[in-house]
Amino acid sequence: MKAQVLNKYDDDLTASSWVDMQDVPDPKIEKSNDVIVRIGGAGVCRTDLHIIEGVWREAVDPTGNELLPLIMGHENAGWIEEVGSEVEGLKKGDPVIVHPHITGGTCLACRRGHDMHGEGSAFPGVDCDGGYAEALKTSVRNIVKLPQALAPKEVAAYSDAGLTAYRAAKKASRHLLPGEKCVIIGSGGLGHIAIQVLRAMCAADIIVIDPSDTSLALADECGADELVKADGNEVQRVMELTKGLGAEAVMDFVAERGTTAKGLAMTRNMGTYYVVGYGEDINVSAFEMITTEKNIVGNLVGTWAELTELMSLADRGKVHLSTQEYSLANANQALQDLNNGKVKGRAVLIP
Ligand code: ZN
Repeated sequence: MKAQVLNKYDDDLTASSWVDMQDVPDPKIEKSNDVIVRIGGAGVCRTDLHIIEGVWREAVDPTGNELLPLIMGHENAGWIEEVGSEVEGLKKGDPVIVHPHITGGTCLACRRGHDMHGEGSAFPGVDCDGGYAEALKTSVRNIVKLPQALAPKEVAAYSDAGLTAYRAAKKASRHLLPGEKCVIIGSGGLGHIAIQVLRAMCAADIIVIDPSDTSLALADECGADELVKADGNEVQRVMELTKGLGAEAVMDFVAERGTTAKGLAMTRNMGTYYVVGYGEDINVSAFEMITTEKNIVGNLVGTWAELTELMSLADRGKVHLSTQEYSLANANQALQDLNNGKVKGRAVLIP
């Protein structure tokens, strides 16, 4: 099959192309619960840029030369192509979305539904071959069947970007009361979904911060109440909008270039700062933590159950993923556009 393969890291993301279109062997059923999915769409994620620049090297490739070549792509949807001998209830051609984290299913974390923390796991597209290709191997435990109204290429990016935004927004929605404020930092691939999930699940006022007018326009379409241009005065602007107290919840989908300090500064005493993006350290003193009683909550993708919840919202038209389609052959263009802030919503590769 055809696949876009990452053959070398690029620490400063300055190369003109990062992946190479190659002929690679088709994925094969090896275990009785394996499933092969024919890719309908693969989301292009900032994590892919972080993989290229080597941010993940220490975690998943400690010797620095065993992971590559790698087929990236962890946000996948498509159609069932082939199933292992123990798989029931799935047949060739069924439209599906794929939860990104493969787990064994028998450890305590898995049995409690904490899919991102299961033992003996694999993460296609990050530590083994993913969906920048014509087909992907996963496990039956990762499959969520799609309602007929949802096309794989339109929902692919829900499997990580959407799911991560959903999980963070769901956590916040359980605490936010009508009249309270939620700040969203970054209205890109994740942020624009979080706005819609919050709209669907709580009645808080939503304030969205972004440096890009395109992203602010998208936030407006998604139902934001206040738009704040990230021009250096965003903390002050949020304080004005919250009577000088800050917001009850702040969701940071950027977490680099200084947004973590700003995000915490916008969080009200006893409020919660949800960190979703990554790229810099969060610096806060123990003194500040105890005197403000602010909470800092990390977010890692989401569970299989949460992916089904998100598909219900999508099927009901409560969330809509803004996508920009690229052919698989144009993967480098999609990655460059993402790196240059030129993607509205989410880039998706179509084989
Ligand atoms: Zn992702």
